Amino acid sequence: MSIYWNKRTKNLSPYVPGEQPRDRKFIKLNTNENPYPPSPKVIEAIQKAAGNELRLYPDPSCMAFREAAAARYGVKPEQVFAGNGSDEVLAFAFGAFFDAHTAILFPDITYSFYPVYANLWDIPYRTVALSDDFSINTDDYKVYSGGVIFPNPNAPTGKAVPLSDILLLAKYLATNEKVLIIDEAYAAFGADSAVPHIGEYPNLLTVHTLSKSASLAGLRLGFAIGSEELIEGLCRIRDSFNSYTVDRLALAGGAAALSDAAYYEDINRRVIATRERVSQALRSLGFSFLPSAANFIFMKAPSLSGADFFAALRERGILARYFNRERIADYLRVSIGTDQEMDVFLGVCGELVGSL
Ligand code: PMP
Repeated sequence: MSIYWNKRTKNLSPYVPGEQPRDRKFIKLNTNENPYPPSPKVIEAIQKAAGNELRLYPDPSCMAFREAAAARYGVKPEQVFAGNGSDEVLAFAFGAFFDAHTAILFPDITYSFYPVYANLWDIPYRTVALSDDFSINTDDYKVYSGGVIFPNPNAPTGKAVPLSDILLLAKYLATNEKVLIIDEAYAAFGADSAVPHIGEYPNLLTVHTLSKSASLAGLRLGFAIGSEELIEGLCRIRDSFNSYTVDRLALAGGAAALSDAAYYEDINRRVIATRERVSQALRSLGFSFLPSAANFIFMKAPSLSGADFFAALRERGILARYFNRERIADYLRVSIGTDQEMDVFLGVCGELVGSL
């Protein structure tokens, strides 16, 4: 605390991101990065952009990137918004579409940045409990609220929500003139995207990131797809904050990534295959886990607390993500790495079960 902080700063409980180790080499399975490199076309585009033109501001409308996204997803560039990572897009969306007078809804177990954004913008919220099997029951969200947000698949559980349920919820929220935000950060690994239905639901915003499925967490680029009126709302917030949140290198690399679907389909198919192989191996070792539609597995060791499991992995050079929270304190979220990395991880899991 400082006497110079205003009330808002004093009242914040900032998000704590997963560890990015600097001094020791770990097998890093804690922040859901893609284990495969970005497309060579992305590197080429960034290298080309890293020249004299860096003295110029980037295009504030991010048009080349929006056009690439529009071509990839079959929408208009006016239905795409680009931001500095999907975290920024989410922060802007909270500011643009949710109000200080009606509580918004999101799951009790979900991306832990949502309550942080709500507090930052003074938006009241109510969490809705996941069912006993950790699924999101969309009927629970069909009550009057200021709007709804959840990821599909949900994080950190990895469980997907049926698209038909999402569309029915969007329809319900439209009758109250409220926005439904679906955070599709991990959708490429197994959930049905709501993007093809954007035209039918002017209150539906999907949020996407290039950090996971496009192997570009270091570039900081995310985007949203929605009706032109929602996109214009996001632009109004951005242009009241910083006109140039996406730099020239990110715009060039991001457009190249979205134009190389074949490369990414291939590497993400490999991530999914590894996830399925690891799931089977964990089952035979006696670990329990939720069926994952994402690039991570939410899992529990037999007779070890989440904290002890986390510490045992860390000691052996493997980083996972542990959330010390009610209902999930026995679980770890483990990102899918390369086959080699996951073999080391499975070896440690086997060792731990053997010593119990
Ligand atoms: N949404 C979810 C559900 C996430 O897990 C993450 C990654 N922490 C993000 C959004 C943000 O991703 P980024 O800012 O890297 O685009």
